[in-house]
Amino acid sequence: LAKKECDVVVVGAGTAGLTAAMFAARHGLRTVLLERLMGGAQIINAEKIENFPGLPQGLSGAELGASMQEQTVKAGVEILLEEVFSLGLESPKFVVTSDVRDYLTKSVIVATGSGLRRLGIAGEDEFTGNGVSHCATCDGPFFTNEVVGVVGGGDTAADEAISLTSYAEKVILFHRRDRLRAQQVLQQRLIRQPKIEIMWNTVVERILGSDTVTGVQTRNVITNLEHRLSLSGMFVYVGLTPNSSLLGNLLMLDNGGHIPVNLRMETSVPGIFAAGDVRQHSAAQLVSAAGDGATAAISAYHYISNSRSR
Ligand code: NAP
Repeated sequence: LAKKECDVVVVGAGTAGLTAAMFAARHGLRTVLLERLMGGAQIINAEKIENFPGLPQGLSGAELGASMQEQTVKAGVEILLEEVFSLGLESPKFVVTSDVRDYLTKSVIVATGSGLRRLGIAGEDEFTGNGVSHCATCDGPFFTNEVVGVVGGGDTAADEAISLTSYAEKVILFHRRDRLRAQQVLQQRLIRQPKIEIMWNTVVERILGSDTVTGVQTRNVITNLEHRLSLSGMFVYVGLTPNSSLLGNLLMLDNGGHIPVNLRMETSVPGIFAAGDVRQHSAAQLVSAAGDGATAAISAYHYISNSRSR
């Protein structure tokens, strides 16, 4: 296929990318948004989003993702399900290569988000899809009236443990410290929920099973005592890793793989902007991702207008 020319290519259709593309199109820029999986990205599995301003009743991630996508398409953005493999410079433009074609573009907004970090313990890979899961909303019903475990102490672990109580008989939350990182409102819900038991100062060292998960081996980090517990599902929520592997040759990344940006969401390469979870020091919230997207698009608009007048 011939190279397709545009003003902005946005990579990633999560909240940051959808917002960036919508703002870019509303500024009159020819905007293409490339996404490898599904518009809405990470939030589509969130059962209820309660902290996006203007939605006092909350909304499911699937609904919010779909409406953001609808609004972006309405603004004139072409959203294409293509996976981006590389990003290169063809001065003064950029070439974005997907599994379908090359795009020649004046600017790029990287909104590739993040993926769930893995624990890296025995049994985790082996039982993924057979008892180990990263999606309580999708897989929770498989564990109706059973005992499941959740690892992590952040907002995701708390949210997902609460969701799992709709199905499971008991949810054991394993946290490596004696205090949760999750926001207060979620901590209070966790503690009030009778089906949830929190095992403090506990790390999961091994996931046990034969065809499917049958239990876990844990260690108390204070006493060093090891323990084996029976359960049939393990949900792992131990943080996020940025999806930035395709960018390292062109952009500066920090030690954690995030993209350093300034307040205009400008990266180390003029014409490339970053927004959302993938950028350094992101608050990793939907509303801040949306804000980043708007900022990145407005900066891309100024960058393109200034290049025209030079
Ligand atoms: P997170 O905030 O980074 O928390 C990760 C949790 O996993 C921490 O409690 C951490 O323990 C634990 N952990 C990390 N590595 C571990 C290991 N090797 N073994 C055992 N435990 C480990 O990640 P997150 O909960 O996925 O949240 C990511 C971002 O999304 C956050 O900014 C969060 O606020 C946001 N988010 C918001 C909502 C919401 O607003 N409702 C929902 C979901 C996510 P320590 O505490 O000891 O470090």
